[in-house]
Amino acid sequence: MNKRMKRIIATSFTVAAFALLGGIFSREIACNAEETSITLQLGELYDIGAGDNAVVTSDNNKIVSIVDGKIHGLSHGKTAITIDTDEGSKVIDITVKKSGFPYGEITMYKGERLPLCFTEFKHKDAKWKTSNKKVAKLSGSEIVAKKVGKATAKCTINGKTYACHIKVKKAPKKLVYLTFDDGPTRSSTPKILKILKKNNVKATFFEINPAKADYDLTKKIIKSGHTLAVHGYSHNYNYIYASESRYKNNITKLQKLFFKKFGVWTVLTRFPGGSSNMVSRFNRGIMTRLTKSVKKWGYKYFDWNVSSADAGGAKNPKQVYKSVKRGLHAGENVVLMHDFANNYKTINALNKVIKYGKKHGYVFKAMTAATTEIHHGVNN
Ligand code: ZN
Repeated sequence: MNKRMKRIIATSFTVAAFALLGGIFSREIACNAEETSITLQLGELYDIGAGDNAVVTSDNNKIVSIVDGKIHGLSHGKTAITIDTDEGSKVIDITVKKSGFPYGEITMYKGERLPLCFTEFKHKDAKWKTSNKKVAKLSGSEIVAKKVGKATAKCTINGKTYACHIKVKKAPKKLVYLTFDDGPTRSSTPKILKILKKNNVKATFFEINPAKADYDLTKKIIKSGHTLAVHGYSHNYNYIYASESRYKNNITKLQKLFFKKFGVWTVLTRFPGGSSNMVSRFNRGIMTRLTKSVKKWGYKYFDWNVSSADAGGAKNPKQVYKSVKRGLHAGENVVLMHDFANNYKTINALNKVIKYGKKHGYVFKAMTAATTEIHHGVNN
């Protein structure tokens, strides 16, 4: 029997049973039978009170997973769970909100640090505990991946329990994060996405404020499994680097917009021009201050250690390819590329770059909130 049929039958069964048996039924199936729908916060672990003999299944494990009979909200959306017992079966509709703890499940590489931050609300005083300190250890408001294995971090706030299931893996010896700045754009984004898809590679997009007409592009980036990150609402150096408060507003405004419009909470950011930029020199010392402040504001910032030179030095796709090839090295590679309009230099080099990388043992990944930051030296 498929899940939909099962749900229809289960629902009518429940309604009939309630009419006939009232409260007796709810005790018999050993769960909170009066509940027909549950709303969870993101990352929330909720005990539905199903008995030991109940089998709980989720219609969509990406939205809600089942952990030891408890339900766990993993991503924003709607789905349903089915509780099967000897006495019958019951369906509960589940809604997972977009606010809460965004990392219900995460794979971390050994040595990586995950900020234990919530979406738009602050929980600096949240007391987290991990089930295995040897695998994942708390350090301030971060989880540090110590050893290959599995662990769960949990905290309870306002009567709600949040959980983070962590799988720690050994980092690949040659790891590549392709990053695309300044998009989305109608002329470049779809082409870049097509090449990434063809090669089954996930990447990271540091966007500027997308035009409303281009929201579909940002949505496609998210839906395809790439990571959305904040470059800044505006890219105008003279405007954004005029003061710390203006810079803060420039990134939080976009962070909030991503959350509101696309349901994505990101703490990843990249300074326009990089943290080593000299374009901000009209405001002496601003980068020295900002590189410290962004961390306090809850962000991780990423420069790059491999340049494609697609915004400057490279004259054609061949030079983009050569520039990346020359830069790739053992360990973590953060490759700077651009998603600005008509970037044919990168569009026509990308497939070759990926093919070269794969052939030489590089593993391509999208960044996560745990990815180890790559920082330039600050020049201002
Ligand atoms: Zn940029």
